[in-house]
Amino acid sequence: MNSTFVITKLDIEMPDLGLSLSNSKLVGDRWSKVLGEVFRIHTVENLLTFFPYRYEDRSKVIKIQNLTRGSQNVQVIGTLTSLQLIGKTHKKRLVGTLVDESSIYKSELQLVWFSKIDWIQKSYKINYKYVAYGKLNWFMGRPSIVHPELELNDSYNLRNLKGVRPVYRSSTKLSKAGITPKIMTKLIRNAFDAFGSSIVESLPEYIINREGLIGKKMAFEKIHFPKVDSDYGMAIKRLKFEETFFLQMRMRLKYHWRKLELTGIAFKSVGESFLYVYHKKIDFELTKAQKRVIKEIRGDMLQGYQMNRLVQGDVGSGKTIVALMSMLLAVDNGYQATLIAPTEILARQHHYTLEKYLEGSEIILALLTGSTTPRRKNTIYEGAKNGLLQILVGTHAILEEVVTFQKLGLIVIDEQHRFGVEQRSKLWDKKISEKQLPHILMMTATPIPRTLAQTYHGDLDISKIDEMPPTRKPVKTVHFRETKRMELIFYLKEIIKKGQQVFVVYPLIEESDAFEDIIDLEEGYRQIRNNFPASSYQVNFVHGKMKSTEKEEVMKEFKDGKIDILLSTTVIEVGVDVPNATVMVIENAERFGLFQLHQLRGRVGRSSTQSYCFLVTKDKLSFPAEQRIKTMVNTNDGFKISEVDMKIRGHGDLVGVRQSGSIEYKLTDPMLVTEDFDLVKGQQVRVERILNEDVHLELSKNSAIKKELERLPKFHRYWSR
Ligand code: ADP
Ligand code: MG
Repeated sequence: MNSTFVITKLDIEMPDLGLSLSNSKLVGDRWSKVLGEVFRIHTVENLLTFFPYRYEDRSKVIKIQNLTRGSQNVQVIGTLTSLQLIGKTHKKRLVGTLVDESSIYKSELQLVWFSKIDWIQKSYKINYKYVAYGKLNWFMGRPSIVHPELELNDSYNLRNLKGVRPVYRSSTKLSKAGITPKIMTKLIRNAFDAFGSSIVESLPEYIINREGLIGKKMAFEKIHFPKVDSDYGMAIKRLKFEETFFLQMRMRLKYHWRKLELTGIAFKSVGESFLYVYHKKIDFELTKAQKRVIKEIRGDMLQGYQMNRLVQGDVGSGKTIVALMSMLLAVDNGYQATLIAPTEILARQHHYTLEKYLEGSEIILALLTGSTTPRRKNTIYEGAKNGLLQILVGTHAILEEVVTFQKLGLIVIDEQHRFGVEQRSKLWDKKISEKQLPHILMMTATPIPRTLAQTYHGDLDISKIDEMPPTRKPVKTVHFRETKRMELIFYLKEIIKKGQQVFVVYPLIEESDAFEDIIDLEEGYRQIRNNFPASSYQVNFVHGKMKSTEKEEVMKEFKDGKIDILLSTTVIEVGVDVPNATVMVIENAERFGLFQLHQLRGRVGRSSTQSYCFLVTKDKLSFPAEQRIKTMVNTNDGFKISEVDMKIRGHGDLVGVRQSGSIEYKLTDPMLVTEDFDLVKGQQVRVERILNEDVHLELSKNSAIKKELERLPKFHRYWSR
């Protein structure tokens, strides 16, 4: 198949870095299993790219008299002059005294152990010389190290431990299996010794020279076994360069190859139904941003190459209408279009919305979800296949193989980040022919900061709806601690009196949470019922375990204004549009992620009436929870929120930008908040320069790049991650 990079065998037989650990003779079955489970180290290459996360400088020895306040790690050499058990049973500790002989004034450092006391007492001997290393503490004016690393000076010298030492991530599971930090270092040493010669240079010489990089093999050596600080500095520079370069390269290759090799469908005319909906059905003025994005999409689909565009727009920015207008372009040009949403509720809602807009037009529209009846399904399959069906809205049910289209011109994927790579790649099968693919429009409400978007979605064109419909009033967000619940109930009654509706959302509870002090849907329903009696209030609920027809019924009642308060778990997280609902209450808000809170809040504020989001939490909050709530109260801006979110969660998984696992940043800061940002920017320029000259990487000077791409996990020639 020519849609993936063809793997060519290297002529020379070399041990393969892709060899599984269990076959490598480096470790036994038990260890290879543990390493795989804990750190996804499955192959020799995984082991060699398990890089240290920091280094300890064991090259310097400090004299005790020179120790200064602060809690840095220090290394001291001295004689162990005493080792004493101090304190009663529960506060028992072992205290040793290390005396540093070289000073004129006898200086003492205390070494303290709270656990493994028996073992320590047996292993260390008085009046021997030791090297102690650890975090320096000051207690009653005296320096001490708690749980120091302690090593006989002689063996320390013998084992040549002096110098810079890598520190690897560890875990209890690993230590329990006996893979201590020392062993880890040894394993990597062995792997390097046995397989180092298989590390092939992946960058062309001209780049290595121009950028002042060291070779790949040397970089592996220096990152794991540095002698001085500058060693790992050089190594990290080289390896970071490599990972950012190849990630960028892969994305841009896809981008260019797609444009070069695929015949896009050109939607030449703006037709009847587009104009009908635009002029007759939309009862508001599109925002400038919406108009601009529709124009960008139109421009793409006119060109004769295949569009792969990501539309980013905050919750409520009006992406649905953009999707609809794009689909109408396809339909007016004689093609079919499909809109795929991540949940059934959302798909149904889209279907409902589209039906309204298309009322009075001739367009044939259908909805396909998991709960569509078999008979209806068959009709839909038939219609899609013979081309009568023009727009198909639905869930991932559309991705199934049985669904074939006669002439699919456009696929819209809503809430793109909620689909897995696997699911998205199934769309590939809906192609018209090997070289003719439907245009792809992805939509996301995950507002990744622009700089990041460019680096993580480098294979896509990006449009941004950076403006809210003028009818939207910013939602006011208020934090209620549990003790203020009566106040909250009072407000809710006032709002319902005005004829407006309320969402109350509860966190999903997993079994492990059973003992936590949180309110679930069931408990919440009881509570609400106590305060909002059935005689005067309509209360109902939806949750994930209900049948979709039941859910749909309740949602419809809510939409029609027949329910005052709708309780739910997070099933309403995305997309639901009920303009008359003006209040979103989020119970146990401290349990939700920032971005989820933002999405939930986006369910209200969909009319010109002032809307509110009430965040209810327990009284005492952890620091990060407090930060999340504060951020929500202070801003409505999705971009700011996602930036804070990413900062709080650090390297945690970024919604929507997590990579597929084929290449992941190991050394580069995925948020690019450091100098890594400049590095990635630079790679964009470098990669573009190379591809401008040699888009198929056929020049011999670029052969190393090509080889490396062939060696890396396969990637789809055109398909985005
Ligand atoms: P999202 O971007 O979150 O998918 P929707 O497409 O659901 O947002 O739109 C949110 C609401 O705003 C809908 O009720 C929609 O009808 C309305 N809307 C969209 N565009 C405009 C506009 N230009 N002016 C006024 N209301 C709009
Ligand atoms: Mg939407």
